[in-house]
Amino acid sequence: MALRPLVAGNWKMNGTRSALKELVAMGEGYDAALRAKVDLMICPPAPLLFTAAAAALGSRIAIGGQDCHTAASGAYTGEISAEMLADAGATAVILGHSERRQYFRETDALVAEKAAAAHRAGLVAIICVGETQAEREAGKTLAVVGRQVARSIPEGATPETVVVAYEPVWAIGTGLTPTTADVAEVHALIRRKLVSRHGKQAAGIRILYGGSVKPSNAKELMSVPNVDGALVGGASLKAADFLAIAAAY
Ligand code: PEP
Repeated sequence: MALRPLVAGNWKMNGTRSALKELVAMGEGYDAALRAKVDLMICPPAPLLFTAAAAALGSRIAIGGQDCHTAASGAYTGEISAEMLADAGATAVILGHSERRQYFRETDALVAEKAAAAHRAGLVAIICVGETQAEREAGKTLAVVGRQVARSIPEGATPETVVVAYEPVWAIGTGLTPTTADVAEVHALIRRKLVSRHGKQAAGIRILYGGSVKPSNAKELMSVPNVDGALVGGASLKAADFLAIAAAY
């Protein structure tokens, strides 16, 4: 089944208000032809969310957060709840990005809790999984990704509430990408795991590939079976690159 693709941009800790001109340009380039074939989303840093949502209004580019806390509110200085993201205009949130797993020691269990919080607030959870270089070299890719998928995705995941992003850690921001055969193998594994745990409807859950996606490799990566879009870091900061990736469909 070919799913409607999603190309989501993760701006990470990049961009002040002046960067929103890129979002506006993306909206202008997201014309009827592109809208007919692909969903677009930008996940800016939290301080930009509200303004970004206003800037994207009318363009149909969705806005997402990059992380959330598990609680709806409370004494958690510096944290942001899923409800706050939704209130600022987000419709989704990236969870379990490898940078959060690595630098902030997020575990599969915490990612699953955050995903449940996202669902409580009505947000789509974009749940990231992926192996490190050492794990790949040790032949553990399928075991690691299988475990992350089993433990990071909460019960009751549906195509409306969950997107999975396969992001090999060694491919993020390095210019390196797996072979299309490797991508196909991992995405097929993720699909099998989703369907066996969440039922037949999980065939409709979108599985994005992320890691050094750029205009020059997007077409090849996006043509791999079970690749239902892309999670894009660096190349999502410029409208021209992001739109060129979206146009690969
Ligand atoms: C990411 O961090 O989610 C990512 C895919 O980054 P990049 O595209 O820059 O490799």
